[in-house]
Amino acid sequence: MPTGACGINCDVCKLRLLRICSSCGSGRSVEAKKKLEAQKKAFGGSCTILACACLNNKEYCMRDCNSFPCENFSLGPYPFGKGFLEMQERRLREVPPAFDTHGNRVKVPDEYWEALKTKDINVLSNLTLGNPYASDGLIIRSLREDILVDIMGRCIKRLKNRQWLKTDDPLLELITLVYLNRVSSFHPLGKEIVSKNDLKEAHFFVGLHDLNVEALLERYANDIDGFKKAAEYLGGSPVKMADAAYMLLPFPRVPLYYLFWQGDDEFETRIDVLFDRSIEEYFSASGIWGLVNLVSTALLKGPGDENLDQSLSSVFLLNLD
Ligand code: SF4
Ligand code: SF4
Repeated sequence: MPTGACGINCDVCKLRLLRICSSCGSGRSVEAKKKLEAQKKAFGGSCTILACACLNNKEYCMRDCNSFPCENFSLGPYPFGKGFLEMQERRLREVPPAFDTHGNRVKVPDEYWEALKTKDINVLSNLTLGNPYASDGLIIRSLREDILVDIMGRCIKRLKNRQWLKTDDPLLELITLVYLNRVSSFHPLGKEIVSKNDLKEAHFFVGLHDLNVEALLERYANDIDGFKKAAEYLGGSPVKMADAAYMLLPFPRVPLYYLFWQGDDEFETRIDVLFDRSIEEYFSASGIWGLVNLVSTALLKGPGDENLDQSLSSVFLLNLD
């Protein structure tokens, strides 16, 4: 693959066609190692980005490294300008857009909030392992954070600097409301773990409605450690089910199991999602589909800054012109 670790696509560069410049390749490629050697010979040093990506086993900085955009980009002479890097930084902080099963942006119907007003918060707290908050709120754990369901304020809040602040996360809001409106009894967990094909509405999960793991595969197929880090960051507990497998809790009593099967010469890497049978008590097929989107997106975002070894940056801030 001729795309450089930084994301520059050497495929479309005339310098490569003219053989003035060779392709950099990803941080895990043979091309990258050769390029670093060539740069050392020609310039006495090498590209800080390519060297760092190789050192940290990252194929592509923008896709695979949670430290992007790091100082190797902001302090270096190229490849990207300040405006581009600031845009990346800003947009990586955004909540990713969420779509429904028809491809439209997720909207939360007012009726869901109205229906929630009729529920007894103490009963809901018991059923969901949440905690009542003031007279009209409920705090519930979702993956690695507590969220506040503010029923009178009709919003979900996240804790920032010890303050509950409204968050604009329609998928989280929708899934949370569906769950809280439907939960009505307590079901023991772990009795039956099932795949989408074992669910009563198994026919739903085909074509556009298949469970969303494609992007996860694109990101983690060659990076099982990255997958493990992301799952552990979200509070996932390892389970003995595949080459790497985790139980993740979008809600304390709604486990999802993500199974990572490492590919080999015969089989491609695969990610499966399994459910506790009780999930059908709370979610229809479209709700389960949305829940998987929520968790897969969180896995894709992964941890924040990775504290990678970037010590090369001061040594190799070379202008390679
Ligand atoms: S910045 Fe580094 S990795 Fe990117 S194209 Fe230039 S030499 Fe290659
Ligand atoms: S820390 Fe290294 S691997 Fe990560 S974005 Fe920066 S240069 Fe790329």
